[in-house]
Amino acid sequence: MMIDKSASRLYVTDRLEQVRNVHLTKDQSHYLVRVMRRKIGDAVVVFNGLDGEWHTTITNAGKSSCTLLVDQQIRPQIIEPDIWLVFAPIKKARLDFLVEKATELGVANLQPVLSDHTDVGRINHDRLCANTIEAAEQCERLSIPVVMPLIALDVLLRNWPQNRRLLYLDETGQGEPLASMVNPGVKDAILVGPEGGFSPPELGSLRALSNATGVTLGPRILRAETAALVALACWQSFGGDTCVKRIR
Ligand code: SAH
Repeated sequence: MMIDKSASRLYVTDRLEQVRNVHLTKDQSHYLVRVMRRKIGDAVVVFNGLDGEWHTTITNAGKSSCTLLVDQQIRPQIIEPDIWLVFAPIKKARLDFLVEKATELGVANLQPVLSDHTDVGRINHDRLCANTIEAAEQCERLSIPVVMPLIALDVLLRNWPQNRRLLYLDETGQGEPLASMVNPGVKDAILVGPEGGFSPPELGSLRALSNATGVTLGPRILRAETAALVALACWQSFGGDTCVKRIR
């Protein structure tokens, strides 16, 4: 179907099917009606991570309570690349950037971890979630990444799932080039260290973990967010995205 390119695109939590009403949150209603100046009859594109992407029409344009009528499916839900990003929290502006770009690059799961040299000890979970939603709406993804609670790296490693490889970005130069380690269809996680790098005991635990592999991104020392994003882009172009095509 023809979609008005200027239609706003929103993530909603309701199930989506034909002739269903979707009630937007106060913030979403404010955004549509006050900020975007949308009116009754205008088109809005919505997705919920489960039922694909749908065309809807505004039927009630209240400034704090807006209703959409779901009318036609634009794209069915697809299985998206299964890639996790495990990262140590960094300073606010860089973290916002990292989360926005990782979402655009199709990350499925964002796992913040505390490591020995992590210097930011907390995350604002709601803020990270809001960043993922905004980026997913903008980049036309059909899902939003899951943002996991902050945990200690050693706890994560002790409970690491058997069926997922952990590709850890090793700035010491040891390890295989990432591109040579990526295969379409394999479940992976990318682990990026903090600005202070991994501690020797952490590198020891990583090297001892059976399904973890050290990878290098080349001879330059990248900032944590650069390393994470380069790794995701590389993983997607040699693995994940080679299995999934854009339909529209
Ligand atoms: N302070 C450390 C650098 C940390 S860079 C030092 O001086 O050695 C932050 C993180 O980015 C690293 O822990 C690593 O996971 C990743 N990284 C940076 N450059 C990298 C590279 N060339 N190859 C692999 N990983 C890299």
